[in-house]
Amino acid sequence: MERITWDQYFMAQSHLLAMRSTCTRLAVGATIVRDKRIIAGGYNGSIAGGAHCIDEGCYVIDNHCVRTIHAEMNAIIQCAKFGVPTEGAEIYVTHFPCLHCCKAIIQSGIKAVYYAQDYKNHPYAIELFKQANVHVEQVPFDSTKVFSFLNKS
Ligand SMILES: [Zn+2]
Ligand SMILES: [Zn+2]
Repeated sequence: MERITWDQYFMAQSHLLAMRSTCTRLAVGATIVRDKRIIAGGYNGSIAGGAHCIDEGCYVIDNHCVRTIHAEMNAIIQCAKFGVPTEGAEIYVTHFPCLHCCKAIIQSGIKAVYYAQDYKNHPYAIELFKQANVHVEQVPFDSTKVFSFLNKS
């Protein structure tokens, strides 16, 4: 029986998290991993108890929805909230991180970023990751393989 790879396993988790997103513009999921263990996860959504874009519409300023906290930020904040170290961790994200998340990822000591889809990959984010020696790699998510595994029994 062929098992899915670690990369596909963590990427599947990020895509599952993305399904909890409350923003209608883009559904993003992020999983923070240390030593092949999931230590945190996040999706883009409003602050706890806040209005959701899916109910009230997006709050758009300068073509960005400002209502939500990004998936990567939510995952890093979860680590802060529960006192879990992010130093040397890896992050699996459904989309290439924005500039703000890029900086938060670097500053939290995360050493590798695996992303499934390109998303407005900002040249400055690419430059900052390189400068900070963060390994960045595209890992396309093969959902058919993951779900066919679940259905074959
Ligand atoms: Zn929104
Ligand atoms: Zn972001």
